[in-house]
Amino acid sequence: MLDACVLPIAGEDPAARFAIESTLRRFGAGSARVARDAGIRIVALARGEGYRDCSKALRRLAAGVDDWPIPPAGLFVVEERTMYLRSFSAMTVAHEFAHALDCALGGGIYLSSVDPRIRSAFERATAFVTPYAASGLDEYFAETMRAWVEINDPQSLWPRATRARLAAADPAMTAVLASLFANELRDEGA
Ligand SMILES: [Zn+2]
Repeated sequence: MLDACVLPIAGEDPAARFAIESTLRRFGAGSARVARDAGIRIVALARGEGYRDCSKALRRLAAGVDDWPIPPAGLFVVEERTMYLRSFSAMTVAHEFAHALDCALGGGIYLSSVDPRIRSAFERATAFVTPYAASGLDEYFAETMRAWVEINDPQSLWPRATRARLAAADPAMTAVLASLFANELRDEGA
């Protein structure tokens, strides 16, 4: 059922599309369905292409990011329900797709911004699965979900995000993710 997993991906590079699809499949068919039903789109930037070339919202909201010494590897734009990817590494795709699911589950705003279970887990957390998870509710959601699906890059200097590490650091958020994947993101027929 490979076709059932695929979201619209804009971009010419077949290797990029293959890499993106491979990572999305690791979230399961239920996640792909939720993202697709919410109208999530993916744009794979071409070499030399900037975010400002692809997104009206990013021209307005983040005009300077293309000029950073190292521009972000990916960005998710809530108002466009679109993932923009410069890197197609599994870790980048998984992190941005987790933002996309946060938006899809929240009906167009981040679930993490309104769900009291997530806020409470974040506020009470004494340890974080990766350093970036501590930087805000949205990054907390994205990084803990990336740990739940255990998607990492071998060359990353960050600690590997795994379900065991998440469960040890943050049982409350582990329970939230278990519930999401058992219900809203459940694979049909699984
Ligand atoms: Zn992020």
